[in-house]
Amino acid sequence: MVATNRKTALENNVKFSNNYSQKNGLMPVSKDEPCRHCGKPDWCYRVGELDVCKRGELAQGWYKTSKHDDDGSHYLAPINQQKQSRPKQRREWYYENKSGEIVVKVVRVDDGNGEKKIWQEHYQNGRWVAGLGDIKREDISVYQLREVMFARLM
Ligand SMILES: [Zn+2]
Repeated sequence: MVATNRKTALENNVKFSNNYSQKNGLMPVSKDEPCRHCGKPDWCYRVGELDVCKRGELAQGWYKTSKHDDDGSHYLAPINQQKQSRPKQRREWYYENKSGEIVVKVVRVDDGNGEKKIWQEHYQNGRWVAGLGDIKREDISVYQLREVMFARLM
């Protein structure tokens, strides 16, 4: 019975992980990507840059953070990446042309897990359009005149 209970617990854990991953970027380990700490293909999982080894192993080059999941398994982080990734946020930088009109903006979106997207948009017929369009780089003032930060959650 112990073995059966353990198997069910594992299955539930995987189910939980699969459901959870869609919302929070939680990735259960697999045969293709086994746990970096115990080397096993199940039970353990990853969240962004962090790993959780449910067997309590710790690979070289990693350290145990003070945070842990609901089961008390600590989040593990790579030692040389202790700095926190940028918080989830959207920032926009506006650029003016030589006549002082805002013509271009650069948008940067950080997803909070270290992933970022950066793109340019130009202002055309009253709305923002992706890319630079007909605007030439030399028409844009070299000075970044305004920075607007949107710290809102997306
Ligand atoms: Zn593990």
